[in-house]
Amino acid sequence: MCGIVGYIGENCASPVLLDGLKKLEYRGYDSAGLAVVENGEVQVVKTKGRVADLEQKLQESKPLSGTVGIGHTRWATHGAPTDANAHPHTGGNGMVTLVHNGIIENYIALKSMLETAGYTFVSETDTEVLAQLFAYYYKGDAVAAMRKVMQTVRGSYAVAVLTKDCPDRILAAKKDSPLIVGKGEGENFLASDIPAVLKYTRDCYLLNDGEIAVLEKDRILFFDSTGAPLQKEIYRVTWDAESAQKGGYKHFMKKEIAEQPKAVRDTLSPRIVNGKVELPELHLTDGEIRAVGKIHIVACGSAWHVGMAAKYILESLAGIPCETDLASEFRYRDPIVREGDICIVISQSGETADTLAALREAKRKGAHTVSIVNVVASTIARESDDVIYTMAGPEIAVATTKAFSAQLAVVYLLGLYFARAVGRLTEAEEQAKCASLLELPAQIEELLKLDEEMAKLARQFSAAKNVFFIGRGLDYAISLEGSLKLKEISYIHSEAYAAGELKHGTISLIEPGTPVVAIATQEALFEKTLGNIKEVRARGARVIALVSGEHKEVSEFADEVIHIPQADATVTPSLDVIPLQLFAYYMALERGCDVDKPRNLAKSVTVE
Ligand code: GLU
Repeated sequence: MCGIVGYIGENCASPVLLDGLKKLEYRGYDSAGLAVVENGEVQVVKTKGRVADLEQKLQESKPLSGTVGIGHTRWATHGAPTDANAHPHTGGNGMVTLVHNGIIENYIALKSMLETAGYTFVSETDTEVLAQLFAYYYKGDAVAAMRKVMQTVRGSYAVAVLTKDCPDRILAAKKDSPLIVGKGEGENFLASDIPAVLKYTRDCYLLNDGEIAVLEKDRILFFDSTGAPLQKEIYRVTWDAESAQKGGYKHFMKKEIAEQPKAVRDTLSPRIVNGKVELPELHLTDGEIRAVGKIHIVACGSAWHVGMAAKYILESLAGIPCETDLASEFRYRDPIVREGDICIVISQSGETADTLAALREAKRKGAHTVSIVNVVASTIARESDDVIYTMAGPEIAVATTKAFSAQLAVVYLLGLYFARAVGRLTEAEEQAKCASLLELPAQIEELLKLDEEMAKLARQFSAAKNVFFIGRGLDYAISLEGSLKLKEISYIHSEAYAAGELKHGTISLIEPGTPVVAIATQEALFEKTLGNIKEVRARGARVIALVSGEHKEVSEFADEVIHIPQADATVTPSLDVIPLQLFAYYMALERGCDVDKPRNLAKSVTVE
């Protein structure tokens, strides 16, 4: 889970590499490094810390002027984030220099084989084994050596390799980690993700698993896993590099929170035509939907919270049994998936390793797979039977906001589509539901005006040690998200509880002053949740209540009341989440946390 860049051309490589690494820092940021060919010698500069630390180190060392190089920003999986473990790594006494994204599962056995053969290791990483193994196999034919390496290692990788004997070439390959090649004029690029090359080119090649690329200044060659030459088609990027920048906001997270009306509108409106949901991406007949035994929803992190909401939404709208699973559990528990079941997987990046494995498991067992993905042409998107893209645009902040909202929007569309297919939705009902969906962007816009109020609340609550989030039904699903958002960026311990479950143990943790965020926007459950608010208040909790509509009685039992616009009960998660995101954001700011890059986390989790 890291960022890889490569450059070969006529310009100085290091500024291009640094620039690309900054765009990819969301993928991992505990160490950074680059290797540049200087007069036929490969120079490596690397450090623990951020790309800015690398930049500093480069300024302090002898300037690099070479025009060929590779770079890396790391998210450690094997060995602590140290200078020695930072990439690039070298093999064969400097013959090979390599950067790697992923995990080599059989590195211990390979390391001992190589040690017996006389190779010595200077880092704790699995990656160094890859570099040495490449050197071990390399007899002048780089593609052949790469194929040998790929046949020998188990695990996931995107790699970029320089060899000292052929300094005018970068070799690249991938399996289960993303890698793209950018095609320029007299220069070519390599990156884990498109935004890193957009400043230079819009013509990209998307590498598939098992493929190898050889980049030279004036040409790019591709080979398949048998070593046969491959012709690949150019993918022309039509979106704007600007959309990957901060655009005047202090943090990407704040910018992305503000972009939610657009993300939701762009996701919904092309798919609602004359008051009717249209999903041409979905290749399921009404008959097939009617025959579905079960819908499996699989995801990780915030996307799993969307999955939790989806269970309530799809079951209530379409009446089809749904089960929501964590991908990391689903993939190993031999789930009961029957031929004709539907498996919905949700992933912002489309590269989430556990979700990808779950998708493959469901597919293998005969389910029709539908992915909800933000990154076009990502692995999950490519491998699922159908893909419904969230139109959120690139999301850079590690803590998801707009992708989450766009995922919810897709869930509503699916709910209505399925409900119509099974005959549980009349035309008039669909018209009304679609109208309420189309109101969402404006309602979210309205909720963004709570900005100052949430900043004020954060000032009052930022010293909290523990925060509880409670709610019932869909309010519970959104409690999970509110709680995760808070803990991942502000590092305050927090728990989300189904409101009715609190008294079965956890209420013992409520003491005078404990903040409890109570979400009570499901009208049908309001009285019940109000009862739970009273229970925690009686034990001294400071309650922030989210209510839909008037409900004047709440102010008697809550210290703060946030009013959510009234909406169809199904879509309240999209509204509730906005103040919760703002609350987490300001809590993190109050506590001086690095909002966009919270510690120990990375944006795209491509390891299991
Ligand atoms: N497994 C490698 C390491 O720990 C690469 C991790 C990454 O993808 O950044 O260095």
